[in-house]
Amino acid sequence: MSRIVLASRPDGAPTPDNFRLETAPVPTPGDGEVMVRVHYMSLDPYMRGRMDDAKSYAASVPVGGLMEGGSVGEVIASNSPAFTPGDIAFGPFGWATHGVAPAKQCRKVDPDQAPITTSLGALGMPGFTGWFALHEHGRPKEGETLVVAAATGPVGSMVGQIAKARGLRAVGIAGGADKCALATDHFGFDVCIDHRAHATAKDLRAALREACPDGIDIYFENVGGKVLDAVLPLMNAHGRIPLCGMIAWYNAGGLGNDAAEEGLSAPRLWRTILVSHLSVNGFIISNHWDRFPEFISEVGPLVGNGTIKVQEDITEGLENAPQAFIDMLTGGNTGKAMVKVV
Ligand code: NDP
Repeated sequence: MSRIVLASRPDGAPTPDNFRLETAPVPTPGDGEVMVRVHYMSLDPYMRGRMDDAKSYAASVPVGGLMEGGSVGEVIASNSPAFTPGDIAFGPFGWATHGVAPAKQCRKVDPDQAPITTSLGALGMPGFTGWFALHEHGRPKEGETLVVAAATGPVGSMVGQIAKARGLRAVGIAGGADKCALATDHFGFDVCIDHRAHATAKDLRAALREACPDGIDIYFENVGGKVLDAVLPLMNAHGRIPLCGMIAWYNAGGLGNDAAEEGLSAPRLWRTILVSHLSVNGFIISNHWDRFPEFISEVGPLVGNGTIKVQEDITEGLENAPQAFIDMLTGGNTGKAMVKVV
């Protein structure tokens, strides 16, 4: 089997040198474990954090260790009554052609409901993230205005589509004219603003002001950086900010650099939260898996029948995973980033 390990820790943006492709014996499942041959492997922004040796909500990948990640494939061997060979399973199998994991950390995927690739995106962790946080922390109400960046990604596109279905005005922010067209034409956003066409937070804010004549009630935070700076002054009183991610700052190793450049300071942030009575809720989706069955029973059929639209960006070959991952962090993906392994 082949696998990709963390060769070294990145200093800023990751480079191909931070990864190494290795061969290894095919693993055998222990008691209660399953072994799969991976078909598709997910590439997600959180993996950037795992490459750093910094305190976070999850342990770092050790140097020389298998890159972490979720993937979907066919069960080859099972020592658990929950799976039989031939089943399709999603689990934490890492960046590899084959993987072993405890059956209780895996879930069966129904290939008749939707293509199995959706278990990595719209019907997987990212789609669930958008659904969960919009309902739980966004508390959407008909007629309100929602803004979300990374609007064509698996989180942002789920947020926008649910917002529209709930009768909100959904304003997307995305990188480039093609992605903006995808956001409005495919995913149904009312408007999408190209953040690359607005060099400063001030310019971006002017475009947002026009797109949001009634202000912003929900800012679903995926990116931080210039977008957050642009959005903040436009938040309506009692607005909600589900704090999902801040990808603009992931390579900075922490808060600060972009914020200083953009003039976004802690005092201004706190003052805005206070005077606008904002609710800001950080969350980590892995603490909320108890809600996943509810999500799948509600959203699964909607993805299956095409009511909820999907966009996937599939790179061929495990060996190309590092570059695809590096590209995804700066917007090189159009839709859910994943790698076709077999
Ligand atoms: P995407 O597939 O949308 O990929 C990331 C996108 O971020 C890029 O395509 C790019 O889109 C955008 N981006 C990158 N840099 C910047 C920047 N400087 N300014 C604005 N946009 C930028 O990612 P996901 O949908 O998988 O994830 C979205 C966010 O949700 C991430 O921050 C992720 O970490 C977070 N997340 C958090 C979870 C939690 O538990 N809290 C769980 C899952 C995801 P574009 O080209 O359009 O700008």
